[in-house]
Parts: sequence; C-alpha cells; structure tokens
Amino acid sequence: MLFLNSRSDLFTSELLNLDKQAVRMIVGLQTGHWDLNNHMHNRLLADDDLCRFCLEEEETTVHVLCQCEGLARLRLRIMGEPYPSPCSFMEEPLSRLKAFINESGLRAFL
Ligand SMILES: [Zn+2]
Repeated sequence: MLFLNSRSDLFTSELLNLDKQAVRMIVGLQTGHWDLNNHMHNRLLADDDLCRFCLEEEETTVHVLCQCEGLARLRLRIMGEPYPSPCSFMEEPLSRLKAFINESGLRAFL
C-alpha cells in the first residue's frame, strides 16, 4: 500500500461519504490492486505493463499519479502540480483524486 499508511481522520471521513464505486477506485488505485497495466500484466491479463498514456514507462500507481508525461497537464490543472510527490497525494482532498481518475479516463478501464 502506497498512500494509506498515514492518512488522517479527514481521509476516513471523506472516504465514508463516497459512493461504493468511488471508494473502489480510490482504494484500488492507492493499493495498486486496480486495472493498471502493471497489475494486469502481473496477473497475466495484459500483454505488457506499459503506461497507456505515454507508452514509455511501467504503468504503476506512482507513475500515473506523479510521473507520467502524458498526464502532467491534467495533474497541473487538478492538483496544481504537474509532478507531485507521492506524499502530497495524502494531503489532497479525495474529490481531486476522484476528478483526476475520472478525467484521465482511468475509470473507463474498471
Ligand atoms: Zn505514462
């Protein structure tokens, strides 16, 4: 689990107020147990583990949320930074993370 180990009571409160599908998206993305190519490839459900947005790096949670060139503009618009650190996601409202997931198209792969 990448981001869950130091979340706050605010995170818990926000999570409890989301619908079931949103909770699944956020927890799945944060734990890496989601339809990212890295996870799908490890489960032999994808031909490769390359990022669908840049086709250059392994598609992991950290890559998608923090490093991918193909998602930098979207992160800048939603999160205020093109390349945030993984730790900064622990401080973001879940509504921003949910917006990022939806607008990036990651949700379409659920
Ligand atoms: Zn990428």
